[in-house]
Amino acid sequence: MLGTLVQGRVSLDGAAVAASKLALTAAITYSTQRRQFNASSELREEVLMDYQRHQRRLLPRLAATYAASFAHEELLEKFDDVFSGRNDTDEDRQDLETLAAALKPLSTWLALDTLQECREATGGQGFLIENRFASLRADLDVYVTFEGDNTVLLQLVAKRLLTDYAKEFKGVDFGVLARYAVSQAAGKTLHRSGLRRVAQTVADSGSGKKSAKALRDEDTQRELLSDRVQSRVADVAAVLRGAKGMSQEKSAALFNEHQNELIEVAHAHAELLQWEAFTRGLKKIEDPGTREVLTRLRDLFGLCLIEKDLAWFLMNGRLSSQRARTLDRYINRLLTRIRPHALDLVESFGYGPEHLRSAIASGAEQERQDEAAEYTRRRRASGDAPIDEKTLLAREARQKKAQKAAKSRTKG
Ligand SMILES: Cc1cc2nc3c(=O)[nH]c(=O)nc-3n(C[C@H](O)[C@H](O)[C@H](O)COP(=O)(O)OP(=O)(O)OC[C@H]3O[C@@H](n4cnc5c(N)ncnc54)[C@H](O)[C@@H]3O)c2cc1C
Repeated sequence: MLGTLVQGRVSLDGAAVAASKLALTAAITYSTQRRQFNASSELREEVLMDYQRHQRRLLPRLAATYAASFAHEELLEKFDDVFSGRNDTDEDRQDLETLAAALKPLSTWLALDTLQECREATGGQGFLIENRFASLRADLDVYVTFEGDNTVLLQLVAKRLLTDYAKEFKGVDFGVLARYAVSQAAGKTLHRSGLRRVAQTVADSGSGKKSAKALRDEDTQRELLSDRVQSRVADVAAVLRGAKGMSQEKSAALFNEHQNELIEVAHAHAELLQWEAFTRGLKKIEDPGTREVLTRLRDLFGLCLIEKDLAWFLMNGRLSSQRARTLDRYINRLLTRIRPHALDLVESFGYGPEHLRSAIASGAEQERQDEAAEYTRRRRASGDAPIDEKTLLAREARQKKAQKAAKSRTKG
């Protein structure tokens, strides 16, 4: 029954990605125009997008939206392959179903989260219905439920991961299986004893720079993200193998004991699919400058995934504490490098005013800011501008200091 809803799921995935793109276009456009509080100058306030926290709120979601968008393109191709009859075997249909079941939950959750964050990141303006965050969020709310509830869909993905894992070892002779078991056990000792962590720390030799370089490396990111899926599937499969000879009641209880973990593995698998789609997408970009910026965005996506699940990577010996410490700093560095391209990155979605239909994405804030700056400049030039209290106090303090110095000179 769940399987028949695949066409709807493909559409929901695309619509959710489009909603995230619209929200980020409006929020990032506004954030590059809206000025609030003066930190670095008495005369000009800062643009919101230059605050580190603002970058942390919007840019990782922009990176996740790009990843979801690349993954959606691949889903559409698979969908076209099956429904055009070009590649329409039973296996192709199963692959399409699993892919749709994995991507729809992530993109619809991302859309709700992005719409809410963009709404807050644009302050009171974001709350106005004319800027569409609230209405889009209300429209998108049901996406996580209809055409298959997200949590239930991820169980479908988990089941497929377990089936594939079991298939891989079906009919394998005892010798190979024994060798596999030995290498698994060796792998486990390596991870659980933290030996790999020690090796990483030694290789990094206390250098934050080397740690950052390793994290930037595509193969390191791929290894960390795919190992997280493979080893967790293997762990659960090993436990569930015991369910074979059990009664229905007992085997269901055993399965239920590991349900949460299974859903988390499916989630991690879907994130890996998005990361891989983004990485494949990079290979198709010909312009070196564009490729460089998007590679940074892909790195931001990959490293934020690792940061989100840092406890698992550390607890299971996949990451040294040295590298884990570098992660936060390196993500902040990536944010400052991506910041100058933020506007280009949302403009490349290609939405015009007729799609955005949002006042804060129209450039109105820039006009307002320019007008206010011009008004203040004129007043200052005319000498009519009120003097800031802080400036007066500072002037008084300087005068007192000068009087004191003059007095002590007279005494001397
Ligand atoms: C606006 C709207 C339009 C719809 N349109 C259609 C339509 O046109 N055609 C159609 O066929 N259907 C339609 N549906 C139905 C929709 O597909 C179902 O609502 C959806 O699949 C979820 O099923 P449910 O409502 O029975 O929730 P339930 O299955 O009761 O789920 C409720 C909660 O329990 C959790 N849960 C359920 N099972 C498990 C489990 N095994 N393990 C852990 N957690 C679990 C879920 O994650 C969810 O959070 C529509 C629904 C809505 C809201």
